[in-house]
Amino acid sequence: MDPEDVGCLSLCNHSLLETLGRDVWRPLCPESTYTQKQFLTRLERDIPTHFFCHTCSALHLGEQVNPPGPKYFVHKKIPCDDQYLVDNLSVITDAHPRESAYRFIYFHVKLAMKRHYYGPEHGISTESLFFTEVHDNISNTTLLSAEARICEGPRLCMRFQTWAVAYAPDAEAFVAEPKFLSVCEHINMKGDVLPQMVKLAFGKLKSGTPVAPKTLTCESCYVDYQLEMKQVGSPDNFSLVITKWLDLGAGLTAMDKKWLRYTFRTTFYGTQQPGIAMALFESAPGPSLDSITQTNNSYLVGDRYKVLMERWAWCYIKQYGKWSTAMKRRTAVHYFLRSGIILGFIVGMICVIVITVIDNKRKRDS
Ligand SMILES: [Zn+2]
Ligand SMILES: [Zn+2]
Repeated sequence: MDPEDVGCLSLCNHSLLETLGRDVWRPLCPESTYTQKQFLTRLERDIPTHFFCHTCSALHLGEQVNPPGPKYFVHKKIPCDDQYLVDNLSVITDAHPRESAYRFIYFHVKLAMKRHYYGPEHGISTESLFFTEVHDNISNTTLLSAEARICEGPRLCMRFQTWAVAYAPDAEAFVAEPKFLSVCEHINMKGDVLPQMVKLAFGKLKSGTPVAPKTLTCESCYVDYQLEMKQVGSPDNFSLVITKWLDLGAGLTAMDKKWLRYTFRTTFYGTQQPGIAMALFESAPGPSLDSITQTNNSYLVGDRYKVLMERWAWCYIKQYGKWSTAMKRRTAVHYFLRSGIILGFIVGMICVIVITVIDNKRKRDS
């Protein structure tokens, strides 16, 4: 039997621990060894509130991971959270001149897949990763939407859609302004490829012969994407709409190349077929691409996002779902206990005051 299995067995009860002896822990003690990681990965399956972190080689509380959107931030976050500042999907999610409020890190993949593997008591729901954000800029309005689905594999796939609405009489005027726009690290407005595609899409829209956009794939990081121009509201208001599909892998290790290729910590020498992330995402249950495009469009026409979305610091947001079930349960219990204690204290104080007043009155009367 492997040392990690013996270690798990010894945790069943005191008799087994005494029988097997305390030496069973010896192979598990050196930090960050393969055996220790295997042992903690096994423990993770039986502890719904925790997950195994490959960075720290430790079990962390799931509720100490911040959600990707800015609501429901936790005060006591996991110790390795800051290390992931460089290891997030910001190149994919930065759709605005200012930084996006949506910060997606690997633990979100890990926790969503944990729920898929072990059941609803574990991890987080894919709905808690949904997000829509609008930035009101001086010369344009930008929107980002994010959705997640568990797809065949199993693996976590995501669909992002970005809108950049600007007043522009022609294609040259449009591409001159939003230099922050990009598909990924390799395809952006600073190069030649994206401006050319935008001009082509602009020309098709202006000619009145719009065609369905093709699905393309970046040859470096394998992000699938579609690009089209749409008219939003008034005749000279146009938006570049970029939809991206990502395959983020099975959520088993932060060293998964399917994750690292988007965070640019590794070059992906995969054999992935172009368009596979899109095909996987669109074949899983959930709203269609047309549906999300219409929803995003409806936020922007007539600035309806100002009414339909929540004002949050420098932007408007719509954050779906609560955070982890464990956190929700704890918060409910916490508030109940806290409100009960406060109520009890107030009632107690009122009783003491009433008794004192009655007692004093009785003394005076006597
Ligand atoms: Zn950690
Ligand atoms: Zn790329």
